[in-house]
Amino acid sequence: MRAKRLTRVLLSSSQPVFFFHRVGHHQAELYPEGLSTKTFSDSLKHLLDLGYRFTSLREAQADSHTPGYPRAVLAADDGFSCIYHEVLPIIRKHQIPLTVFMIGCCIDNRALAWNHKLIQIRHHADESDLSDALSSLQTMYSLPADGSISHRMFSVPDHHKDEFCDELWDRFCPTSQEEYLARKKPFLSLTQMQELQNYGVEFALHSHSHADVSRLSYPQICDELHKNKEALSDAGFEPLPFFAFPYGRECSPGLLSDLCKDTSLKACLGIRYRSSDNHPKSRLWQRVSLEHCPFPSLKELWLVPRLRRLKDALSLF
Ligand SMILES: [Zn+2]
Repeated sequence: MRAKRLTRVLLSSSQPVFFFHRVGHHQAELYPEGLSTKTFSDSLKHLLDLGYRFTSLREAQADSHTPGYPRAVLAADDGFSCIYHEVLPIIRKHQIPLTVFMIGCCIDNRALAWNHKLIQIRHHADESDLSDALSSLQTMYSLPADGSISHRMFSVPDHHKDEFCDELWDRFCPTSQEEYLARKKPFLSLTQMQELQNYGVEFALHSHSHADVSRLSYPQICDELHKNKEALSDAGFEPLPFFAFPYGRECSPGLLSDLCKDTSLKACLGIRYRSSDNHPKSRLWQRVSLEHCPFPSLKELWLVPRLRRLKDALSLF
């Protein structure tokens, strides 16, 4: 009992944002990591048992943390339809709010993002055929000549990425992308989004094309965010002013302030949580992956974030 009280006191000094992508077995072919439905449910019970009370990202960002109990936020990336089928019944049961960071082009199964296309291409293509295809496309798409297949594929310049993936898809995948989307429906439909919103789920930004923003120019990042917002508002949803960096790859820290001002964002979210993070005035928030660690202990939630903060402070000298 005393240990439980001590845990709560230690954890009440910060407010982590726990996030995940996929729950259950659906969409595993687009996002291989993920949590089983049971693990996700047990993970939330574990966090509640540690003493966390869940609040929405909007509320957490709007006011300073009230000391006395640990507070946390739950978020999901990419907008897979498992959020409706698997996640909603569980968060409803525990009355946990959720923020979903949506990829603009994937809303309502209108398109696959380039990283999803690459995963499917790798699934269907023979390694040596794919390597030959990359060599034949090397000059056209400015691909590196050496390195692993993944490295060569993911090095495609941002402005070419969809065209490049579409070309490989047509060579190696057995059905068209339209057929794949119509059959599998991997992303949330508008009806599902509406039902989630009726429960209280909120939507936020995750870029329009799931771009690696660390490789984009400032105008390109702004363009990704404008298109992402437009896609959500055209679909009838008002996105929260928060942006989760795809792959956790952040833009240069020097751009954050202007980016938030120019695109009306309150904060951007990465994936490297330190004990000093997630305060209302901060432009950069950080998250903790439940897929990497579904049952975090004091070590992951208290010690590691402090060591990380210390390491970052020492690296400044
Ligand atoms: Zn993502």
